[in-house]
Amino acid sequence: MIRAVFPGSFDPPTLGHINIISRGAALFDSLDVVVAVNTRKTPLLKPPQIRTLLEEQIEVLKLSSVKVAVHNGLIVDYCRSIRANVLLRGVRASSDFNYELELSILNKQLGGIETVFLPTEPRYLVLRSSTIKEILKYRGNISKMVPPSVEKALLKMV
Ligand code: ADP
Repeated sequence: MIRAVFPGSFDPPTLGHINIISRGAALFDSLDVVVAVNTRKTPLLKPPQIRTLLEEQIEVLKLSSVKVAVHNGLIVDYCRSIRANVLLRGVRASSDFNYELELSILNKQLGGIETVFLPTEPRYLVLRSSTIKEILKYRGNISKMVPPSVEKALLKMV
């Protein structure tokens, strides 16, 4: 039984994240998407709101083995609490990879947990939550970057 955890800030959730979640659901027996509070980034959406938006997408896609949780603390502690064996991360460019590699080594040291990387699909290569926040600030069109319910929630905030 392989229990995987997909952690991130998901602020906001993008079609790139949703793609990794669907592909992860097909690979593992269970997948917990964990909304982690990222202290290095300025938050736009609050974690409970992010959880609701992700849960809506998971329901639309009928991914019954996927659940969403909010966690404030080390991700290895969350993994331990649910006896997860794998961390799932998506990678876009080599710039992601350098950071992700260091993080995977740290998580292995901290919690003995392996990280599995899924390469993004080319159409999501340039999708980044931070870029979406920037586009939103200037009221640019984000409809091809996020699910419709996420777009609706974001438009209410500008
Ligand atoms: P973090 O704040 O930990 O970087 P993010 O919310 O930015 O988390 O992303 C969570 C995970 O989703 C990370 O593994 C990130 O690489 C991955 N990810 C983000 N955007 C994409 C995308 N467009 N395609 C594939 N993976 C992505």
